[in-house]
Amino acid sequence: MSANATFSPAGQQKAIRWYPPSYDIRVESIPFPTIQDPDDVIVKVKLAALCGSDLHVYRGHSGIEKDHTCGHEFIGEVIELGSSYGAVSAKGRPALYSNLKVGDKVVSPFTVNCGECHVCRLGYTGRCPEGALFGSPALEGGQAQFIRVPKGGGTLFNLSNPSTWSSGLPQEDRAKALTGFADSSLLLLADILPTGVFAALQALNHPKVAPVITGKPWPLCFSQDVVGLGNEVDFTQEDKLLTIGIVGLGPVGICAAVSILDALSTRQLPYRIVAIDLVESRRDKMKAVYAAVGADGKGNGEFVVCSVEEAKIQVKEWTNGVGCTAVLEIVGHADALALAYDLVRAFGVIVSVGVHGGDLLPLTGRQCYNKNVSLDFGRCPARAMFPLAFDLLVKRQDVFGGVGTEASLIDKIVDFKQAAACYDEFDKNKVGKVIFDPWK
Ligand SMILES: [Zn+2]
Ligand SMILES: [Zn+2]
Repeated sequence: MSANATFSPAGQQKAIRWYPPSYDIRVESIPFPTIQDPDDVIVKVKLAALCGSDLHVYRGHSGIEKDHTCGHEFIGEVIELGSSYGAVSAKGRPALYSNLKVGDKVVSPFTVNCGECHVCRLGYTGRCPEGALFGSPALEGGQAQFIRVPKGGGTLFNLSNPSTWSSGLPQEDRAKALTGFADSSLLLLADILPTGVFAALQALNHPKVAPVITGKPWPLCFSQDVVGLGNEVDFTQEDKLLTIGIVGLGPVGICAAVSILDALSTRQLPYRIVAIDLVESRRDKMKAVYAAVGADGKGNGEFVVCSVEEAKIQVKEWTNGVGCTAVLEIVGHADALALAYDLVRAFGVIVSVGVHGGDLLPLTGRQCYNKNVSLDFGRCPARAMFPLAFDLLVKRQDVFGGVGTEASLIDKIVDFKQAAACYDEFDKNKVGKVIFDPWK
């Protein structure tokens, strides 16, 4: 069934839909999406992924009461553009309003963002006031054959035109990379890879980490003008060693680990990393990924994969009881945050990118005060992270390129008939990341 031949506003398409209150996934025929606003784009979905954060809705923990099409990770082809595209009035707007074409291959971040308001211009695209999450009551999701993308010119990433995004790679290399990449690999850009890169970047660029990275004590590490040391004692090797914890080794945790290893290796910073998960199969996946990462992405450090209890002992041994410089909390659960607090040092930073629910945080004000701890929370501005995530995707095809191997993040690509079973298996930790092919 080819897209353009069958796409018509009067027709029906297949979609994976969630029904309240919980654990109810159905594959249904629903109407085709239509252009509702001049900035809309209609995309024919080639692949759509199942994500850990879909489970919050699946289990009925999100407070959502309305049925909707699932999924916020998708890649596809533009089949229809609203009237904003190619118009003279597109001048001064994001470039895609001028040059996005029918037939272009696009990947979308998991939220819509306008790309042109104050918030988006600063790069905080995940919190655009006009934003919405795909696969929610506010916006139908990508686990369908077709999807409407509002504010497409600000939201989409045009994989057919590498001149439309910034990159550390020359444009020819970007274009060359794209021809060799599987759609399943490029789909990692929709959420998990930018979110992993975001967690790593926030930790390494946090002011609390600056003394270790610059080799100068707080607060002299922030001053360009101060040279030499006064009454301070010289740093030892131990002082320049970053100790990092990663709590949660699902696909995002693994992306965060690969990203932080790459950054440390590029900057030749010495490190010790402890990667932690409750589930043995996820720990095994992390070990396989670490083994698959080439020497150019590992640098000079120690990397261990642990259970929770092992991690506490490991960090104590490594740091003489002081704790980790930074801890990445990738789970979005109170227990994971409590563990991050246990592991982090005084004057340390916790970066939390997991989706937390309505519970109070498991930390008292006194605990936060007593450790001088910095808490950095929230959703990844995925669209803004795409250029950095794309460069890492190119560099690390050794782990981001495969499907169904020991070291690949994606376990399998299945048809819609297996949707309900896959949600169930994913919920029970029996399968890792699954991708749906709506045309299979
Ligand atoms: Zn996701
Ligand atoms: Zn905006």
